[in-house]
Amino acid sequence: MEIKRCLECSGPVKGRSDKRFCNDACRNSFNNRLQTDSSNVVRKINRQLYKNRKILLDLLKEEKMLMVNEDRLLSLGFDMEYHTHDLLTSKGQTYFFVYEYGYLPLENQQYLIVKNKNLI
Ligand SMILES: [Zn+2]
Repeated sequence: MEIKRCLECSGPVKGRSDKRFCNDACRNSFNNRLQTDSSNVVRKINRQLYKNRKILLDLLKEEKMLMVNEDRLLSLGFDMEYHTHDLLTSKGQTYFFVYEYGYLPLENQQYLIVKNKNLI
């Protein structure tokens, strides 16, 4: 019969056929690591979302809308991959939102930045 190996330490697993770990300590450390990995992913994405929001907020200041070019956004550390939602307007334009700040990609690497969808 084939010897089952612990998912954590690769040691032999004895007992029931559905056991995956040699003991509780191995099961716990395996599960803790999985949990930590997924928390790190969430933390990383949240950090970038907050950063994106802060960049839009700092650029816009008290303005209602503002044109900015892509180079400027990228040089500030803006990452287009991360937004919270998008909004398709009746004109067929898609605004991407980072919380209450939105941006609309225009021609020539220009972006229109707005605050909250009520302004669109
Ligand atoms: Zn083990």
